[in-house]
Amino acid sequence: MNEERTTVLIVEDEASIRKFIKINLNRNGFNVLEAESGEEALRILYAFNPQIVVLDIMLPGMDGFDVCRQIRKDKPGIAVIMLTARSQDDDKILGLELGADDYMVKPFNPLELVARIKTILRRMNISKESHEDVISFKNLLLDIKSQKFYKNNEEVDLTPTEFSILKVFMSNIGRALSRNELLNAVWGKYYLGDLKVLDVYIRRVREKIEDNPSKPVFIETVWGYGYRWRQQD
Ligand code: CA
Repeated sequence: MNEERTTVLIVEDEASIRKFIKINLNRNGFNVLEAESGEEALRILYAFNPQIVVLDIMLPGMDGFDVCRQIRKDKPGIAVIMLTARSQDDDKILGLELGADDYMVKPFNPLELVARIKTILRRMNISKESHEDVISFKNLLLDIKSQKFYKNNEEVDLTPTEFSILKVFMSNIGRALSRNELLNAVWGKYYLGDLKVLDVYIRRVREKIEDNPSKPVFIETVWGYGYRWRQQD
């Protein structure tokens, strides 16, 4: 995927904010599509297949959470960055629980948004350029090249972030990974967000890979430190 040809869909009802984001993304070489409602966003999404969606939460009609839910159902491989006007943790956490890859609190520096988009793209590209084709462990199989994941030979849909997290763990079997190490590996070195993001994501990943997510056998918590993919006999 060439960064120059990456298409970003901006979903925001306020024209001035949309325009402001568009100008900055264009300046950084992205193709930009715009939608002013959730309904319009989904129509554009199915027709044009953007790689990234910048999604405002507060929209008329369908809100950003509904749109995110729908994207995750139909197009799990698309990266979603949520925009929230409120700084409340609730909104951020709900967005992440629905499968958003990142979030930004308005007002934000557009260059920060560009940096976040580039981090996500780098992750998607690194996965594709990896030397290993597949990593398998017990009944799980991660296909790096095609970005697909299988449990018991059945495909399980993963978001780009969930895929990155699994890849980090499955490349470091038996090693305790600190929370910071994981955040850096998945969200980039300069991640300034909330540490809670990681816990939300670990929970999501456990729900997809574990038979009983409340009694995880793959990703175990290392209290006061982080997480570890358990070596099994
Ligand atoms: Ca709005």
